[in-house]
Amino acid sequence: AFAAEKRGFQAEVKQLLHLMIHSLYSNREIFLRELVSNASDACDKLRFEALDNAALFETDSDLKIRVAFDKASRTLTISDNGIGMSREEAINHLGTIAKSGTKEFFSRLSGDQQKDASLIGQFGVGFYSAFIVADKVTVLTRRAGDAAEAGVKWECSMAGDEAGEYSVEPYAKALRGTDIILHLREGEDDLLSGYKLRSILRKYSDHIVQPILMQKEEWDAEKAENVFKDEDETINQANALWARSKNDITDDEYKAFYKHVSHDFEDPMAWTHARVEGRQEYTQLLYIPKRAPFDLWDRNPHHGLKLYVRRVFIMDDAEKLLPHYLRFVRGVVDSADLPLNISREILQESKDVDTIRGGCAKRILSLLEDLAENRKEDYAAFWSEFGRVLKEGLGEDMANKDKLAGLMRFASTHLDSAEESTSFKDYISRMKEGQEKVYYVTAESFNAAKNSPHLEVFRKKGIEVLLLSDRVDEWAISQLTEFDGKQVVSVAKGGLDLGALENEEEKKKVEEQAEEFKPLLEKLKTSLGERVKDVRVTHRLTDSPACLVVDEHEMGANLARLLKAAGQ
Ligand code: ADP
Ligand code: MG
Repeated sequence: AFAAEKRGFQAEVKQLLHLMIHSLYSNREIFLRELVSNASDACDKLRFEALDNAALFETDSDLKIRVAFDKASRTLTISDNGIGMSREEAINHLGTIAKSGTKEFFSRLSGDQQKDASLIGQFGVGFYSAFIVADKVTVLTRRAGDAAEAGVKWECSMAGDEAGEYSVEPYAKALRGTDIILHLREGEDDLLSGYKLRSILRKYSDHIVQPILMQKEEWDAEKAENVFKDEDETINQANALWARSKNDITDDEYKAFYKHVSHDFEDPMAWTHARVEGRQEYTQLLYIPKRAPFDLWDRNPHHGLKLYVRRVFIMDDAEKLLPHYLRFVRGVVDSADLPLNISREILQESKDVDTIRGGCAKRILSLLEDLAENRKEDYAAFWSEFGRVLKEGLGEDMANKDKLAGLMRFASTHLDSAEESTSFKDYISRMKEGQEKVYYVTAESFNAAKNSPHLEVFRKKGIEVLLLSDRVDEWAISQLTEFDGKQVVSVAKGGLDLGALENEEEKKKVEEQAEEFKPLLEKLKTSLGERVKDVRVTHRLTDSPACLVVDEHEMGANLARLLKAAGQ
């Protein structure tokens, strides 16, 4: 056994605990959802590890979760016979925050309770939500396969709202798994009720795969109160939600399940659920979150789907099941065909997995098309959160390029506002008589794009131009040469050919002027020397005296600037 000791929390934990208690009180019931969710994850993990090592089940392979309350000691206990934690795991998982995006999260806190509450929810409340209703939390745990004596007692109690440290000490635990004991705060006694707990569990945790048990109660007329019977009952449906028929699942059930798989606090924006048959047979339940996670732009974001094989949990964050640009999607894939012992390495190579990934991508893009068509406001919200990630798809996912192009939204001279709301389809529907191409301009900022001298002739003729100013735009749009048969071209490239939009008179005038100004052009060319390739007379401009253009096939000036800045 190890020595009992006191340890300090990581500074971020202290800050998070304090914030959480203050901001999330009006949502206090979520603590139960979080703790049950962790218990369920622990059971999933044990089941997975036991695939290779059945001895981990000891003599008990019946995975379950139990919720109990004790009025006399004013405690609630959430127990599971899942994987449990070693001393190191308890210290690392319950005393520190090892999540990516932590820094970003803390930097975005504003001090405004309402705003911070939703930020905390988005970050993930998890285990610490226990402290919303408890001022002391005791965790008794033993990792599956370890001796009873290797068990751990982890305890933390708060003085006022501050938790400075926690203790760990040896605790002989006969049964593997984890008991979380909540010593309720003053005023939380309404939670010491079977009726109340059952209703919270049904509301938030009905979809949990393992049975959630509570001791049965019975009215005792003499004592005029409920008394416990010597019998348990299962509170939830205890089957895999995704395996049920769509018609039997309510929206609330879908939403509750989302919170479990995503660790998100808010409802999802949309979801899609389907059983796929064919070369690979699998069920997919995929969700689009309302908000981007904190680590979306990290080098190694936490992403991917939960993978199950015939209802057996295999792994979290199976990133191979989705293309990288859909890394914000959450959910579950349950395969009927993959082997149970599939590893991350095999997943990398598997052709069967490629099929599933293609199927998931198609499904999500169709869902997005549906949003764009039928829930325009939601799609606009989606775009402002995830548009930049979706743009990556233009370079990554050749098979779905057309679908992706259709989902793109841009700022445009039509509204002249920075809001990205114009689709190619909108643009084409507004094209001028005789206009054959889709025009865009790229610049470092919206204002620079909007005021670009390249736009002068377009504004004069009333031709719409897409205004691209996102860092990735120039690269993204260079992946597209056309949309729906219309060429997509930069207004800053090559000799501007407006085709039928130009009248003969204008063309002739340019030619005449080119002749007239030949000596001046030559002079300019000589004095600018190596710095330019050519100097030409143009009808592009109405107010500005001169502008720079690049050749048709050369890199746009903005992209060149970016590459230079990146040291290329
Ligand atoms: P998350 O569930 O998002 O990982 P939590 O704060 O809910 O974050 O939990 C932190 C970690 O503590 C978990 O990832 C897990 O490693 C560990 N943990 C929490 N509860 C349990 C439990 N009942 N059994 C085993 N490990 C647990
Ligand atoms: Mg959790």
